[in-house]
Amino acid sequence: MKPIQLGCIADDFTGATDLANNLVRAGMRVLQTIGVPEGPLDVDVDAVVVALKSRTIPAADAVAQSLVALRWLQAAGSRQIYFKYCSTFDSTPQGNIGPVTEALMDALGCDFTIATPAFPDNGRTVFKGHLFVGDVLLSDSGMKDHPLTPMRDANLVRVLQAQCRRRVGLIDHRAVAAGQCAIRARIDELKAQGVAIAIVDAVSNDDLLRLGPALADLPLVTAGSGVAIALPGNFGLQPSAQASALPPASGLRAIVSGSCSQATNAQVAHFIAGGGVAHVLDPLRLARDRAGAVAEALALAEAQLPSGPVLIYSTAEPMAVAAVQAQLGTEGAGALVEQALAEVAQGLLRLGVRQLVVAGGETSGAVVQALGVRQMQIGPQIDPGVPWCHAFGNDGPLHLALKSGNFGSDDFFTKAFAQLA
Ligand code: ADP
Repeated sequence: MKPIQLGCIADDFTGATDLANNLVRAGMRVLQTIGVPEGPLDVDVDAVVVALKSRTIPAADAVAQSLVALRWLQAAGSRQIYFKYCSTFDSTPQGNIGPVTEALMDALGCDFTIATPAFPDNGRTVFKGHLFVGDVLLSDSGMKDHPLTPMRDANLVRVLQAQCRRRVGLIDHRAVAAGQCAIRARIDELKAQGVAIAIVDAVSNDDLLRLGPALADLPLVTAGSGVAIALPGNFGLQPSAQASALPPASGLRAIVSGSCSQATNAQVAHFIAGGGVAHVLDPLRLARDRAGAVAEALALAEAQLPSGPVLIYSTAEPMAVAAVQAQLGTEGAGALVEQALAEVAQGLLRLGVRQLVVAGGETSGAVVQALGVRQMQIGPQIDPGVPWCHAFGNDGPLHLALKSGNFGSDDFFTKAFAQLA
């Protein structure tokens, strides 16, 4: 493995893919690993994104895991470290954004870093230190009622200060608009005032592209995935088709869908309306006889896969989901369906499937774990936020697209396979 340029630590799985996707589009060859790899990797890439699941675990555990990831990334040659968190700054008053940032600063001997979740392409903008989600302040968005990380204050300087020992300040839009020299001058000014971490305003990709060069010398950058569009240039890399090149795809094609989002319901309906072969898994049937239901789905797949992609889904409309949840409990139903879909995915691979689309964030996590996937090279984007990946699992290499709930156009499934062909 040649030394990597950029080492990234992401606090959740789909967020890691989101970051990797932005880096690839800006010209980096990127590998995403599930957890910290045990040794060196057998690939040449410009960046590695280590996906942790550390967003809502106790702060001390998040710090410990992030430091293990840091040590691996340093050993792999990283010239800069990128700590990636959610573009809605998901955290509690205890962390984990602040504690992980400070632990990484301590370990890197770093006296200054930035923090910005701005991702204008996704409607996340920061102005005067306040985070907007679409047209509303973070504190007026749906995030105010999030079950694990309710965000009730849009002032990120205040939010981050509550999680940090170091002083938090602001690089505001005037400095960002004035470009690299003004941003560097503002960093010097903040440092002289004893500020060690600065929230950065950004309302457009142009803001991020002006910010990027000013970050070239920082050992640590902390951000959502937006800043990633502006970093590869610092390593002399430009957008290129080679960055997203994957080995050619082969094998049979299938889709496993456990997402019940509006977008996924529309995608399933579109696939079926277009004549696609599909088989539904009924959670109540799974509760009675999971093995039988999974075997039935796989028997249909075995017969139909040679003629084209097969969809196996539990995707349902909200009323149907609520009825199932009333009988099995929300968590019980979720875990049961996830387990069944993961078994279906394992069975599909045994049948020769090597191009697999998975719909649903939790569903993707369950499938990736069941397939023993430890690393994925990130390829071309199918729709914003969803790239094809070349993954290595227990059954060898396969092409995998992991789509979190609300992503993708109605024709996502057919579009995905057409792109790979
Ligand atoms: P999304 O990315 O859309 O949120 P997830 O996979 O993260 O999708 O979450 C969907 C959850 O709903 C999973 O836990 C899944 O097992 C569960 N689920 C899927 N189908 C059904 C269904 N028909 N009834 C009840 N729960 C379901």
